[in-house]
Amino acid sequence: MNQRSDESHRDRSDLRALLVRAAEHAAAFHASLPGRPVRPQADLDTLRKAFGGPLPSDPTPPDEVLAALVAAAEPGLMGSPGPRFFGFVVGGTLPAAMAADMLAVGWDQNAFNAALAPAGIAAEEAAGAWLKELLTLPASASVGFVTGAQAANTVGLVTARHHVLAQAGWDVERRGLGGAPEIRVVVGEERHATIDRSVRLIGIGTDAVTTVRTDRNGAIDVADLERVLASGGGRPSIVCLQAGNVNTGACDDLRAAIRLTHRHGGWVHVDGAFGLWAAASPAKRHLVAGIELADSWACDAHKWLNVPYDSAFAITSRPDAHAAAMSYSAPYLTGAGATVGGADYTAESSRRSRGFAVWAALRELGRDGVAGLVERCCALAERFADGMRAAGFEVVNDVVLNQVLVGFGDDTRTDEIVAAVQRDGTCWLGATSWRGRRLMRISVSNHLTTEADVDRSVAAITRIARSVL
Ligand SMILES: *Cc1c(COP(=O)(O)O)cnc(C)c1O
Repeated sequence: MNQRSDESHRDRSDLRALLVRAAEHAAAFHASLPGRPVRPQADLDTLRKAFGGPLPSDPTPPDEVLAALVAAAEPGLMGSPGPRFFGFVVGGTLPAAMAADMLAVGWDQNAFNAALAPAGIAAEEAAGAWLKELLTLPASASVGFVTGAQAANTVGLVTARHHVLAQAGWDVERRGLGGAPEIRVVVGEERHATIDRSVRLIGIGTDAVTTVRTDRNGAIDVADLERVLASGGGRPSIVCLQAGNVNTGACDDLRAAIRLTHRHGGWVHVDGAFGLWAAASPAKRHLVAGIELADSWACDAHKWLNVPYDSAFAITSRPDAHAAAMSYSAPYLTGAGATVGGADYTAESSRRSRGFAVWAALRELGRDGVAGLVERCCALAERFADGMRAAGFEVVNDVVLNQVLVGFGDDTRTDEIVAAVQRDGTCWLGATSWRGRRLMRISVSNHLTTEADVDRSVAAITRIARSVL
């Protein structure tokens, strides 16, 4: 063997050892999750020092880089993929989805289009079809594989903007918004904050946003929506509804609100980042009845489906409007380079092949497994609520889905209790403000969580809350 092929042979066996070692670190981290404190061990300043220092001038062998990364990062890892993480609304990751995503990185396929990544695009198409079936959305809908519900809300609203302005005789892709008919965006009082950012990103200022009242659990008041739509003065309107309020889990009365909006000629976008998954459960589907009537939907895979970050869907009922709003063309995209691509439905051009992990998650769980995951998390949220009530604390929301809000009376004390629970490390959750009060917010979204995890967490929270109060 000459020296060159000798080296390339060594490089290959080194790469194999390197990837095996990386996978072993990931597996060891996951194995440690049930037993370790959920919070990170090191604080941010320690981690900054561990990662910091001058830019090295000389190369470092890859195995040394990996060892240094693990040494720097491990003390700072949050146990968020573990069974007792109830903060924000984040899921863990299913084994097949995690492994598939590692392959997506290793295969390094650019899912821009099918000329570049035929397997990546085929996986997205298959996963997208399964997803529409599971969520009871129209089979003809277009599915863009995006980074998160923030991106999905933006893509949904860009498509909405295209459609309502086209109906008013205005080509927004060519002419922009200067001089365009004024669009009115209607949102619920308790929409997710990403809706406001998406509204800003599509060039519509917050002055054009009209807010609809919500009930005590955060679902929109359909009578107030009717009043708002009736006062629209014929302006093109986009109505943003919600499936799954980020504090309470509340879902809007979709059927009534969508019918009403359509009667007024408006476009309905549903932010269902996690709540849309209720449609996959026979026991919870009633919460999102009428979901299939909407015009666009945002849904996360990296939350309740338990797929690794970053993964979500921007779905629309009008593939032509979706592509007209989002796609671009270039001379190199003609002839052999020309195919319909995943990138036509997203704001990204080059993209990781996210479809592999989604396909793997849906294949691992199957229809019954997804329903089971949703129903188990909801049952565990109820168990959490029962446990907190039994300990003498107030559950503030109607626990309709996987979210629980707990009140401890006093705002400052609530923040103290939440901070002490985070330090304790048995579980991890956060605080929120809801209807003028500071509350503890619990989200059950992980496939690993068991009744024993909930009971242990309730016991820890109770012990800590009593000592603070
Ligand atoms: C989490 C969430 C979002 C934002 O999703 P990302 O995946 O973080 O971009 C939007 N809307 C709702 C209702 C959410 O729960």
